This record gives sequence, structure tokens and C-alpha cells, in this order.
Amino acid sequence: MSDGEASLRARVIAISQALDAAGLVPNKSGNVSCRSARGFLITPSGIPYRDLTPGHLAELAVDGEPATAGPRPSSEWRMHAAIYAVRPDAAAIVHTHSPRATALASAGRGIPPFHYMIALAGGDVRCTGYATFGTAELAETAVRGLEGRRAVLLGNHGVIALGGSLDEAHAVALEVENLAGEYLAMLSAGLEPRLLDDEELARVIGKFADYGRLKR
Ligand SMILES: [Zn+2]
Repeated sequence: MSDGEASLRARVIAISQALDAAGLVPNKSGNVSCRSARGFLITPSGIPYRDLTPGHLAELAVDGEPATAGPRPSSEWRMHAAIYAVRPDAAAIVHTHSPRATALASAGRGIPPFHYMIALAGGDVRCTGYATFGTAELAETAVRGLEGRRAVLLGNHGVIALGGSLDEAHAVALEVENLAGEYLAMLSAGLEPRLLDDEELARVIGKFADYGRLKR
């Protein structure tokens, strides 16, 4: 294993365990992946996050074939493979069942652009229809919902976030949960958010790109 790959594996595990500690991947849900020399590395199926070691990560080619013999990949590997196949800007993907975002996703609600931090997601966060976990249908649904965005709410399921690095995908996933909490707070107070217009959103996306917060 190269130094580069060893550090990628370590980072996938660190982010998975941080998501777990923050309660964003309850009951072994969710998964984390990043591009690798042969395709992508992804967290395995059925192993508690706290017990993960670098050797537990599965490596798949983007067509879904195992790149190396080894652990069983997360049941959501199809969703990751489908995204990597069409999104050259995705170097890493974080999938969570983070509670506030999943609450919105279970009501079929996306997140409107009421706060400028939504620029991390590339604009408003859509909510897709429902598709069964682990299916090609869910993979296609996720890809469509992500068009022009770095995050999407998967209907009645959870969140997908992507980024130009593992840390960026992690940051997008955390921000989606944060925005979902703010949106839920407004809804439960009976308040309607005041939305940013497209021009302002484009301006903030440009500013984030200048700061290097986003790789375009
Ligand atoms: Zn899931």
C-alpha cells in the first residue's frame, strides 16, 4: 500500500468515526468513500465504525467490480460508483442518516437557500423521491438529485454529500445537517424563511471558490 493510499484509508476511517460520534450515522448507517488509484475506497458493510481498521475498507472499480479481494463493501456501493462515474468533481462522498436532514427527507422537503452557507452545497438542496436502499434505482435517483449540486436529500432515507476532498465532503455533510436544523427550527416556530436570491447565491459561491473553500 502506498503512503498516499494509507493516508486516504486513515482519513476515511477518521471521518466515519467522527460522523458516528456526532450521531449522524445511527445504528451503523451511512458510509464514506474516496477515489483511489484503482477506483474508490469505501467503508465496509456490517462492521461498527469504532472497530474499523485500514484493512476493512473495500476497494472497487468505478464499474463496481472489486478492485482487490477483500471485505464486503457497504450495501450502498452502487450509489457511490454511479456518482463517481459522472462527477469528475467528486473526489469523496459522505452518506449519512443525520437526524435533522433525514427528518426533512422523510417529509419530502429539500432545503431552500435561506442562509449563505448553503453555497457549500452549490445551491438549494433538493429532496428526491423514495427508492429502496442498495438499488440501481436509488443510485440513479441520487445522481439526478445531485445535478449541479454537492448535496442532496434522499427521500425517506438520508443525505449524500460530495466534495473535492474527503474533508470537503465531510464539511458539506455537516453543513447540510446544520441547515436542516435551522430550517426545522423555523418550521416548528411557524416562521417562513426569507430566501437569498439567485444573484446573491451565485456571489457567495464565487466568494467561497476564491477562498478555496470549494473546488469548482
Ligand atoms: Zn443509507
